[in-house]
Amino acid sequence: MFKPGTLFRLNRSCPSCGFVFERDHDEGFFLGSMSLNYGVTLVLFLLPVLLLWYYKVIGDTLAVVLAGVGAVGFPALFYRSSRSWWLMNYYFFFPHHLPANGGTGRAGQDDNT
Ligand SMILES: [Zn+2]
Repeated sequence: MFKPGTLFRLNRSCPSCGFVFERDHDEGFFLGSMSLNYGVTLVLFLLPVLLLWYYKVIGDTLAVVLAGVGAVGFPALFYRSSRSWWLMNYYFFFPHHLPANGGTGRAGQDDNT
């Protein structure tokens, strides 16, 4: 899904089968992956740090450092997975849009039914 040798650059289409990941005039599609990334960072990283701090397992300074570093680092580490999860999520709910099922991919907003 990503260009070889890069961490964050998405291929426009699959080099093996030609499946289109990024369509023209569909810039907002992957905003959902950013929301997913944000939610996962909040629930799986920042909330545990907050609870560890609240129950005095870790100190104030460590909690602030972990939260600050994690708030930037965790989304960066999870970036590739969140893109994949979002694409998978879309075709889980709209399997008839898959070219293999006779669809044309994400053709447009009117095609979301
Ligand atoms: Zn493919």
